[in-house]
Amino acid sequence: MLNALTVDVEDYYNQLAIDFCDRIEPPRPQSEVDTHRMLDLFAEFRVRTTCFILGEMAEHFPSLVRRIADEGHQLGVHAYYHHQVWRHTPAQFREITGRAIKTIEDVAGRTVDAHRAVAFSIVKETLWALPILADLGIVYDSSIFPFKGRRYGIATSARGPHRIELPDGRSLWEFPLSTVDAFGRRWPVCGGGYLRHFPLTYSRSGIRRLHAEGLPANLYLHPYEIEVAPRIAPIDGLTSWRQRLKFRFFNFHQLRRRAETLPKLRALLSEFRFGPIDDVLREWTASLAPASGASPPSIPRVRLAQIA
Ligand SMILES: [Zn+2]
Repeated sequence: MLNALTVDVEDYYNQLAIDFCDRIEPPRPQSEVDTHRMLDLFAEFRVRTTCFILGEMAEHFPSLVRRIADEGHQLGVHAYYHHQVWRHTPAQFREITGRAIKTIEDVAGRTVDAHRAVAFSIVKETLWALPILADLGIVYDSSIFPFKGRRYGIATSARGPHRIELPDGRSLWEFPLSTVDAFGRRWPVCGGGYLRHFPLTYSRSGIRRLHAEGLPANLYLHPYEIEVAPRIAPIDGLTSWRQRLKFRFFNFHQLRRRAETLPKLRALLSEFRFGPIDDVLREWTASLAPASGASPPSIPRVRLAQIA
């Protein structure tokens, strides 16, 4: 089964400045270096991905975004700056996401048709973002974590790919982040910290469990996760000891076991088939049994109001 490989193209340090000090700083040149290293690996394995790119990365590193497009990766938008959806009003979200899409498309010369919200911030309170994304030409969203996380997630949302039907009759694909149900609870299994912190067998058996259910996996990564032992300078503006402690803890958690990312990724790329979201859903849809004889495949559908 073909699985999705999805990359959030962003800088680590400048998202810290936003999260801890609400300050926009330019992305570091290191983020471009890390992304090229990741693209080199994908070229070696002849695998294409979906890249969710920040508008500011396209603004600062246009040749990087052109390489992503030239090498056939599906183009997605992440945001303009690394702001969670809930930081915006609907009008602001429309304007800034539209600006990010235009910046990426102008640089890449190709259409952006996918979206992933920063920090999976499409939650029950921000479902208003989905019709706006459809207005902006987004066909594939991959922002919902069907899991009760500390900072994100909609625990009751569908676990497999599905079409979300909007009140005006339109619909868009949602390809949620991968989870499995085991030992009486739900576990996120594919990517980011879940790949770094746990043994490889955790991700491997998660993917196999998903396949046994007839579902493709959605593995996600960030280029900075392969940046081993980065020097994270303390950022200016942390005024209280509580903020400084939180900053230290966050970095400890985010920098831990980065050296393991690349070998684990290589192992998964050797063992499973990966591709961009559009290819995965085309192949998966074709494998679904039709509802009856000559009718088209029965794609799971969920009304927007049902999620809320
Ligand atoms: Zn991100």
